[in-house]
Amino acid sequence: MGLLTIGAFARASRLSAKALRRYDELGLLPPARVDSFTGYRYYDETQLERARLVAWLRRIGMPLARIRDVCDLCASDADAAARDIRAYWAQVEAETSARRDLAAFLVDELAGKDTDTMSPLTTTPPPLGPLGPLGPLGIRYAARTDRGLVRERDQDAAYAASRLLAVADGFGDEGGAASTAAIEALRPLEAMVPGSVRAGDLLNALEDAALRANDAVRGLADSGTTLTAMVWTGSQLALVHIGDTRAYLLRGGEFCQITHDHTVVQSMVDAGSLSPEEAASHPQRAMLLRALDGGDGHARPELRLHEARAGDRYLLCSDGLFAAAPEADVRRTVEAVAEPDDAVRELIALAHGAGGPDNIACVVADVAAL
Ligand code: MG
Repeated sequence: MGLLTIGAFARASRLSAKALRRYDELGLLPPARVDSFTGYRYYDETQLERARLVAWLRRIGMPLARIRDVCDLCASDADAAARDIRAYWAQVEAETSARRDLAAFLVDELAGKDTDTMSPLTTTPPPLGPLGPLGPLGIRYAARTDRGLVRERDQDAAYAASRLLAVADGFGDEGGAASTAAIEALRPLEAMVPGSVRAGDLLNALEDAALRANDAVRGLADSGTTLTAMVWTGSQLALVHIGDTRAYLLRGGEFCQITHDHTVVQSMVDAGSLSPEEAASHPQRAMLLRALDGGDGHARPELRLHEARAGDRYLLCSDGLFAAAPEADVRRTVEAVAEPDDAVRELIALAHGAGGPDNIACVVADVAAL
């Protein structure tokens, strides 16, 4: 097997000589031989496969430390390496999707603010404000929690008012206090005046509120809570989400989950190592990766702005509903029951019909022209 000079190896692997020197320093792709006198690096032809994999992984933007792990895995278990690449890409897409939403809102906000000086953006229609073509929008809502049929206490919390929708699922001895405290920490946001708050400021205020909630939970030993909440601005919903409570949207006949669970099983689904069906019945499906638990490590809320439309119906709920009742039944109820208050009651009845194994928190809200 012949040795190649660094120049020849660079050409064959499509990596630059400079990159090869760096990958050598990092232990990612050490040369087969280094001339002790000249310091020249020589590579074996058999290293080309690894080098080409490195080049491809760099092209998809994978960080070098992770590339080293994938390459090492690839040597022993190509399937495991493939799963790791899939997991990396799922993570990139989730992050890109959150950033895409935020970018769209920033573009809308700037385009609406000054269309004269930002001519490239004037082809974008201005955002539908509270006084857009459809007239002012408002929400009709209902909220309820229920102990279920098995648990001794109700540690879920639900809240709905004209500006704030929230559900929280507390855990630990003081879980009830934790879920209540999390929603209480959001209440000051209700005082924000519709239309007067910039999107970025609202998201910052939401993040501050979630971190205040985490501070409040810190005093409650070994307890914590999830939180899924939306603040209504008059045309948009600012979403804060942490843990495995969920938000769903019914729009134009389509019913979809708009939050992503922060759970161990969801990360395994993202990585392709578990199917959604397997996740639903996994014994550890409730194990959280993120929560408001008073610590610094897990309290990383996800924040997003969501454009609301007249006719939208939102469902916020805890796992006492979605892990117990079949999704098809939940969807049918959300579609069929006109009044939010009736819908909430029927959803809780569905969870009871499935044995009511957990507390149930449920909020239904309709966006409608006022
Ligand atoms: Mg629960």
